[in-house]
Amino acid sequence: MKDIIADRAGKVDASGIRKVFALAASLDDPVNFSIGQPDFDVPEAIKKEAIKAIEEGQNRYSQTAGDSLLKEKIAGQVKGEFGWGEPSVLVTSGVSGGLLLAFMAIINPGDEVIIPDPYFVIYKHVINMLGGKCVFVDSYLDFELPIEGIRGAISEKTKMIIVNSPSNPTGVVYSEGQLKELAEVASEKDILVMTDEIYEKFCYEGWCPSIAKYYDRVLLLRGFSKSWAMTGWRVAYAAAAGLSEIIEAMTKIQQYTFVCSPSPFQKAAIAALDYDVSDLVDGYRKKRDLIYDGLKDKFELVRPGGAFYAFVKAPRGTATEFVEKAIANNVLIIPGNVFSEKDTHFRISYATSDEKIKEGVEILNGLA
Ligand code: PMP
Repeated sequence: MKDIIADRAGKVDASGIRKVFALAASLDDPVNFSIGQPDFDVPEAIKKEAIKAIEEGQNRYSQTAGDSLLKEKIAGQVKGEFGWGEPSVLVTSGVSGGLLLAFMAIINPGDEVIIPDPYFVIYKHVINMLGGKCVFVDSYLDFELPIEGIRGAISEKTKMIIVNSPSNPTGVVYSEGQLKELAEVASEKDILVMTDEIYEKFCYEGWCPSIAKYYDRVLLLRGFSKSWAMTGWRVAYAAAAGLSEIIEAMTKIQQYTFVCSPSPFQKAAIAALDYDVSDLVDGYRKKRDLIYDGLKDKFELVRPGGAFYAFVKAPRGTATEFVEKAIANNVLIIPGNVFSEKDTHFRISYATSDEKIKEGVEILNGLA
């Protein structure tokens, strides 16, 4: 059968991560620093809500835009947090689902999207698949928001700027000052900013500011996958204050694609919004310290302020070469070129047990 696969599928390249997993397949009980999900399970009280919803027969489609109680609660939260008037809300199948809907709703072929590099993998591949053009702005070596680079990258074709704070893969949290500056740059040219805040709760130094507070042409994406360890339950949301037409377009596309986020898990998400995860986050702050303090003498890395990743410079050669060496020594890490146009750093996910973190730190230090 010839040419069965459409050209657009060829624009998605998942080979970087696949290569790591292929190399790792033969390992016995490795130190797994590659996973992008918390090592704790969904809190019991939230599990009970999901089970209750299933037993009570909440097993059918919800409305396309999401369970009305959940939407109401999300709207209340974002109103309180950002002072938004009447927010539009769409419950999505994970932030991944929200990203696909948003890109489909917003990007025409040839449109440019400005993205600080390094970046979360999905952005690049989905934008390419839709015929958009990613304009990467280098944020090495401190990984702070590259305001001047973003200003210089804006063109007639710029459709949107993406920010992700706390960041995957760097763990960096953008400051209030930087986000205010970005709001000014974007508002001068009236450009949409999409803010991916899936790691908002994993915030280790006080609070994690959001651009949604300083700019109204913002599409906010947040989710339940990481904060309450519900990665398999597929619940997240998109919200906007002044851009209800984007949420409407995304809802229309959801109707003919995902249809809705899983109904019983949307019910459980209502309870999750009231479930305080600060104890779990305290545990993750300690893991951050174990990683940073453990590696800082032998490796070059920025102290992560959030999420559960550290982005570390390979001591010599390319990151891919160093990753191969680490995997040969039983430590799974991901080369930076999966998240970047460069191959100089590697990503550590420290969402694993403290014992495994200590073991991994010792092995990596031995390779430095
Ligand atoms: N955005 C970022 C920055 C992420 O790291 C992830 C998950 N790795 C997602 C979005 C998607 O998460 P989900 O689809 O589970 O909500």
